[in-house]
Amino acid sequence: ADEAMYENKRRIKSGVPGGTEEEEALAAGLWGAAERGELRVHYQPVVELPTGEINGMEALVRWEHPERGTIPPGVFIPIAEKTGAIEEIGAWVLAEACAQVAQWRAGGRRLHLGVNASPRQLTGGFADRVIRTLAETGFPATELIIEVTESVQVENPAVVAELHLLHGHGVRIALDDFGTGYSTLRYLTQLPIDILKIDQSFVAVLNGTANGAMVTDTVLRLGRMMNLTTIAEGVESAEQATELVELGCRSAQGYHFARPMPAAELTALLYPAEVS
Ligand code: C2E
Ligand code: CA
Ligand code: CA
Ligand code: CA
Repeated sequence: ADEAMYENKRRIKSGVPGGTEEEEALAAGLWGAAERGELRVHYQPVVELPTGEINGMEALVRWEHPERGTIPPGVFIPIAEKTGAIEEIGAWVLAEACAQVAQWRAGGRRLHLGVNASPRQLTGGFADRVIRTLAETGFPATELIIEVTESVQVENPAVVAELHLLHGHGVRIALDDFGTGYSTLRYLTQLPIDILKIDQSFVAVLNGTANGAMVTDTVLRLGRMMNLTTIAEGVESAEQATELVELGCRSAQGYHFARPMPAAELTALLYPAEVS
């Protein structure tokens, strides 16, 4: 009983239910990480197929921990989601990325921007905050893509309402990791979805056979039928890119084209003549 009480106190203190000591340490450090300048946004180009021309990018956050070095989002985002720190982190990523891509667009390129949103961010005033950030950064609503996963609560009317508000304002909504969750088709009818992002696990099994292409082909057909844009994720080889073109996919991202990179590196890719 003492043990249980101690455990309970520990949880309340750290805010990570069932968190390990390691998680607690990270959880504590995550509060204020944006304000202290420890977060970075990396940008992964999204290319048009088959030309390979960059027509947008996805913002992916990294944490430069003062003692531990770079920590990937797969490690700290789930912790930030549990503690609630994701709200301030998400707001910072959105503002930073909108300002950066607005600057690239001012150089004359038409570019869209994908920003990931955790389910926990999607309640109470999310749409208002996004719309305010667009106004503050001068980034056009129609070039912003909010990427949500199938873990968003479609049964929560408040969440559904936030996404409809954003969509009504012109912001596009993408279903990320499409096909890996559950009740996929229900999401398509209840949420204002514009874009399906084909999960990298389905791209990874493309091998020139009908069997390997089964899910990717199905998602692409579904997209065409519903008049949705489809973006293939995790394209790592020329063979996969070629097969995606054959299957009718027009948009992709992956290491084969470019890894996520700091803004300065992408500036050099977008505007090569201006870097000497
Ligand atoms: P995601 O949204 O599905 O992002 C795609 C992930 O795949 C990224 O990992 C990216 O670096 C990686 N990737 C891109 N191309 C390839 C490829 O060709 N092969 C392979 N194997 N991987 C590739 P990353 O940057 O580590 O992000 C992991 C996840 O963390 C993201 O998955 C997203 O769910 C989450 N995340 C990242 N930034 C944010 C953020 O600002 N807010 C929220 N809420 N979540 C974020
Ligand atoms: Ca994403
Ligand atoms: Ca994804
Ligand atoms: Ca993912």
